[in-house]
Amino acid sequence: MRKPIIAGNWKMNNTKAEAETLIKELIPLVKDAEAEVVVCVPYTVIETAARLTKGTNIKVGAENVAWADKGAFTGEVSAAMLKEVGAQYVIIGHSERRQYFGETDETVNKRTVQALKNGFAPIVCVGETLTEREGGVTEAVCKRQVEGAFAGIGVEDAQKTVVAYEPVWAIGTGKTATGEQAQETIAYIRSVLAGLYGAAAENIRIQYGGSMNPSNVKELMEKKDIDGGLIGGASLKAADFSKVVNYR
Ligand code: PEP
Repeated sequence: MRKPIIAGNWKMNNTKAEAETLIKELIPLVKDAEAEVVVCVPYTVIETAARLTKGTNIKVGAENVAWADKGAFTGEVSAAMLKEVGAQYVIIGHSERRQYFGETDETVNKRTVQALKNGFAPIVCVGETLTEREGGVTEAVCKRQVEGAFAGIGVEDAQKTVVAYEPVWAIGTGKTATGEQAQETIAYIRSVLAGLYGAAAENIRIQYGGSMNPSNVKELMEKKDIDGGLIGGASLKAADFSKVVNYR
């Protein structure tokens, strides 16, 4: 029922020339994918990525979006601007933005509302730090972040939203959550969504993110509640990303 979704998060990588090379390599490698394929890229290469992937099965996303329509928000990029250059998805609340750029549950919510209002599919990131996991508060943290992100969002819009469960201790560290750990927390997140949206929670896709790569993707994707992956490092090489996309 839930179509798997594998999304790359390029973070602050790839100039225009590098983006062109990577996208051109990727197109033939993922053309028969069963999963939905998305690449979330820096603002400066969204237009390039959208142009090159036109007519293919690869969709393009941004890595953030402003919560306001326009105005005095130096450094921010609006939903209308992102739409104009061809983005359809947008990552919101990535742990790096929470950690380095002051993103909070409240700003994540405002950005998510704005993304939905403008027809984007938001990919909302949640997840605990190592200290939080060791302190036994993983579920409390995920509940707070999910309820915060979805505040005021109706059931129709909720089903257009993708949640990425990304334990912070597994991002860019080479440490992956085991299939059991990821499934356990993702099932918990689905129960939180069920508290908000009832049976419609079964339609909301929840990805795992955190050092997902060609060698662990199968084990993770076999789990009942894991509907895809948000892929950082392994999305920067066409061969690796395509192996994750074609995980079956
Ligand atoms: C991410 O940035 O969302 C991520 C999961 O990174 P990595 O795959 O490199 O851990």
